[in-house]
Amino acid sequence: MDEEMKGFLAYLSGWESNLPRYHFGTGGVDVARTALLSVDLVNGFCTEGPLASSRVKNIIAPVVRLFEQAWSAGVGHYALLQDSHEDSALEFSAFPPHCRAGTSQADTVPEIRGLPFFQVMAVIRKNTIHSGLNTGLDAWLSQRPEVDTMIIVGDCTDLCVYQLAMHLKLRANAYHHPVRVIVPADCVDTYDIPVDMAARIGAMPHPAELLHTFFLYHMALNGIEVTAGFSSAEGEI
Ligand SMILES: [Zn+2]
Repeated sequence: MDEEMKGFLAYLSGWESNLPRYHFGTGGVDVARTALLSVDLVNGFCTEGPLASSRVKNIIAPVVRLFEQAWSAGVGHYALLQDSHEDSALEFSAFPPHCRAGTSQADTVPEIRGLPFFQVMAVIRKNTIHSGLNTGLDAWLSQRPEVDTMIIVGDCTDLCVYQLAMHLKLRANAYHHPVRVIVPADCVDTYDIPVDMAARIGAMPHPAELLHTFFLYHMALNGIEVTAGFSSAEGEI
């Protein structure tokens, strides 16, 4: 590894360690204009099937906490973007078949289903890693013109989270409608396939730590706000 790359990786590590914390309310995120969007917190990425990941499962608890904080702060708009694949999904040429419509893999994780305000959440199905292509997302957003702040949680940092955050930011840029897109780093993650395991199972390696951090950085590079996470009260760390 050359010196320039080493220098950048050291910078990147410092950048990630020093991300700011956010809060709702005065001086923080304006709850009246905010939507919370969770992507792919379904059984098929947490507990069941070929793409289930323990790292992804571990973000369920912080995501549930963030949902509860947002709800008690007064956030009124929630959407769950979820894989719900047709049997012949073209995506299955890149990833093993997963989250087929109507199966338990495609169900929202029970921890989110159990929230008392689950009924107000819109479930928006998708058939690719892009939440805005051939889905109901743009219509859902158009029905909520007051929303200009979107908090994105879920998985995977480098796949669906990245595509969703970029879609929201680029859509805003294209229509000249300024928005804040916020990604709390403690509420997103990705799966891990080390090089030796990849060779054994015939998959491509997927170093979780590296790709998680790189894609957070890449989102920040595009004007997406990457925060360490949300504090429950103003001033609390
Ligand atoms: Zn999928």
